[in-house]
Amino acid sequence: MHAADRLEDESGRLTALRRYHVLDTAEEPPFETIVDLVEQVLAVPICAVTLIDNQRQWFKARRGIGVGETPRNFSFCAHAIRDYGPMLVPDATQDPRFAQNPLVTGEPRIRSYAGVPLTTPDGYNVGSLCAIDVRPRQFANNEVAILSNFARLIVDELELREIASVDPLTGVMSRRTWMEVANKEVARTRRHGGTLSLVALDIDRFKRINDTHGHPAGDRVLRAVASAIGDMLRVSDSLGRLGGEEFAILLPETPTLAARNLAERCRVAVEGVRTPVEEGTIAATSSFGIATFRPGIDTLDSWLQRADRALYQAKNEGRNRCVLAEVPADPAAATER
Ligand code: GH3
Ligand code: MG
Ligand code: MG
Repeated sequence: MHAADRLEDESGRLTALRRYHVLDTAEEPPFETIVDLVEQVLAVPICAVTLIDNQRQWFKARRGIGVGETPRNFSFCAHAIRDYGPMLVPDATQDPRFAQNPLVTGEPRIRSYAGVPLTTPDGYNVGSLCAIDVRPRQFANNEVAILSNFARLIVDELELREIASVDPLTGVMSRRTWMEVANKEVARTRRHGGTLSLVALDIDRFKRINDTHGHPAGDRVLRAVASAIGDMLRVSDSLGRLGGEEFAILLPETPTLAARNLAERCRVAVEGVRTPVEEGTIAATSSFGIATFRPGIDTLDSWLQRADRALYQAKNEGRNRCVLAEVPADPAAATER
C-alpha cells in the first residue's frame, strides 16, 4: 500500500490508533511538557495533543480547553489528519471550511489554527498536535517547524511505550510482554494440557482518588497496589499492567478455585495498602474477575473477555470483591495453593 492510500484507509487508521492503547488514559508527563512548551513558545491560548477516534476527538493533553473530548464532526484536527504535513488556517472566519464551525462562531471563538498530524511509521495519521489562537494569525515557518518536531516526538513516545517490556510506572510487565507470555501459555496448554487461570483486576473508584489527592498521589497508589499484588505471587505467575488501573495475573497450573483463593488474598492485600499523603493516608480497594482457560473453546481474547465480564459483574455487585466467570465443573478438583 502506498503511504497516500493510508490517508483513505479509515479502518486501518483506527487499528493503528488502538494499537497505542492511549485512548482514555491519564495525563502523563511527556505530553504535558509538550503542550506546556507549545503554549509558551508559540504564545497561544489553546493547544492540544488530540487523537481522532471513530466519532470523537479525544485530548491526550490540552491547554485552554475545558473538556476531555469533542465530537469529531466539527473538529479542526479531523481535517488536519486528511493530509501529511501541517494544516494552517490564518483566519477561520475567511475559510469556507470553518467559517460556520460552532467553535468559530461560538466559544472558544477560534480564529487561527496550526496543526501537524501525528503520523505513525507506517503512514497513518492518528491525531494531531495543534496550536490555536483567538485572533487571526500567520504562523511563522519556525513555529510550524517546532510543532512538526514535537509531533514526531509524540509518535516516538507512543511507539516506545508499545515496545517496552516493563511498565515504567509500576515495574510490572507491560501489556505487550504480558500478552506474549499469555499467548505462549495458551499455546502450551492447548498442546500439553494443564490448567491455566487468569485474574483480571481493576482498582475501584480510582478516578476519585486522583480527583481528591492529585495525579502524583494516584501514581503512588498504583505502584503500591502493584507491589502488594506482586508479593502474593509465585515466580511462575505473571503480573501485567494492561492499561490505566487495570492489571492481569496469569496463573499456570492453577485450577479455578485456587485462582479464586489467590484473588481473594490479593483483594485483602490491596485493601490493606496505605499510601501516605500530606493529609494522612489513602486506602484503595479493587475488584477481581477470574476465568480458567478452556482449551478448544477459548482464544486469549475470548478468555480475557470472560475474565473482564466477571470483573464487570464484581463492579456491579458493589466492588471490592472477586467474581468467577464460571462455576467450576468439579469443585473437588481445586487445590489449595
Ligand atoms: P471503577 O470502580 O468503576 O473502576 O471506577 P474508576 O474511577 O476506577 O474507573 P474509571 O475507568 O472511570 O477511571 C479510571 C481512572 O484511572 C481514570 C484515569 O485518569 C486514571 N488513571 C489511568 N491511568 C493512570 C495513571 O497512570 N496514573 C494515575 N494517577 N491515574 C491513572
Ligand atoms: Mg477502576
Ligand atoms: Mg478501569
